[in-house]
Amino acid sequence: MFPMDRLGRPLRDLRISVTDRCNFRCPYCMPQEVFGRDYRFLPRDEILSLEEIARVAGVFVSLGVQKLRITGGEPTVRRGLPELVAMLASLRTPEGGPLDLAMTTNGSALRALARPLADAGLGRVTVSLDSLDDATFQRMNGVDFPIAKVLDGIDAALEAGLGPVKVNVVLKRGENDGGILDLASWARDAGHILRFIEYMDVGTTNGWRLDDVVPAMEVVEAISARWPLEAVPARYTGEVAERWRYLDGGGEIGVIASVTRPFCGDCTRARISAEGKLYTCLFSAVGHDLREPLRAGESDAALAERVAAIWGVRDDRYSERRAAATGHLPKIEMFALGG
Ligand code: SAM
Ligand code: SF4
Ligand code: SF4
Repeated sequence: MFPMDRLGRPLRDLRISVTDRCNFRCPYCMPQEVFGRDYRFLPRDEILSLEEIARVAGVFVSLGVQKLRITGGEPTVRRGLPELVAMLASLRTPEGGPLDLAMTTNGSALRALARPLADAGLGRVTVSLDSLDDATFQRMNGVDFPIAKVLDGIDAALEAGLGPVKVNVVLKRGENDGGILDLASWARDAGHILRFIEYMDVGTTNGWRLDDVVPAMEVVEAISARWPLEAVPARYTGEVAERWRYLDGGGEIGVIASVTRPFCGDCTRARISAEGKLYTCLFSAVGHDLREPLRAGESDAALAERVAAIWGVRDDRYSERRAAATGHLPKIEMFALGG
């Protein structure tokens, strides 16, 4: 039997953070002032090995997970990623079907990695790209990383058969919201699927203010005024993005309105941090350690029971409660959980 949480939500998606490190310092995620040279990232023996990750993923798949997303930190800085992908791609659902296997990346290393990852069995990639303007992009990645390399990485992903590529855009008021139409025009021409994400109050270090959020409907209206859009019905329960289709056949966009239109009621996502903690909500303050039992030799069946018990008492709905929340609750950082 697949577990249901207290609000009747099944466990369908698992996001696996394969590292807490990143070569970027996006201010909304890992601000340089906090994640500078002195910041202590997890030592190697504290992060799950590739084999341990694959084993944990197998346990979740036995409980009904159908979608795996590899993330971070920046997943491509983890050594041996294609080997991990090969292990994950060989997992099968209890019915014997393949899994939906995707990765979210900042795109900086895709020129070198897209092909080996595709060959190993990766299905799709989502690339984060907040602006097409090089100066804005360099400011928003915090390390002056040139946009040309990310655009080339996206091309490499397409060449390797990892398309259509989804492109995540985090919008911050006054920072990159002037570039919405440029991004839309580019993605329409290239066949990419844009996903506009409302800037969230993840973690405690990014100095989030509600005024910084560009509401998803504002984005839809701005784009629709230029290229009319219509809403697309959700494909499945728990779909994160609200989808909109161009009436002229120019593809679709998605908006992830976690601040202005919370979607906790359908949330079927669990997350594993690089050190092997299970989080039942992006905004959970505490994780459940799976590394210790894993390393103590607990069987897959016992691990599955452990995870099912944690999921069975889950009642998270942080985004829906946000309005009432004080904003001072302890929270895990986005880079630790991978979005
Ligand atoms: N490093 C990879 C990347 O940037 O795609 C994967 C990890 S990153 C934490 C996953 C996603 O979370 C990215 O699309 C990123 O833009 C988004 N993200 C990070 N901080 C955010 C915030 N405060 N609000 C909304 N989205 C955020
Ligand atoms: Fe790194 Fe991704 Fe966070 Fe940017 S959003 S700092 S690329 S983990
Ligand atoms: Fe899911 Fe938590 Fe986000 Fe709600 S706030 S959608 S429960 S991860």
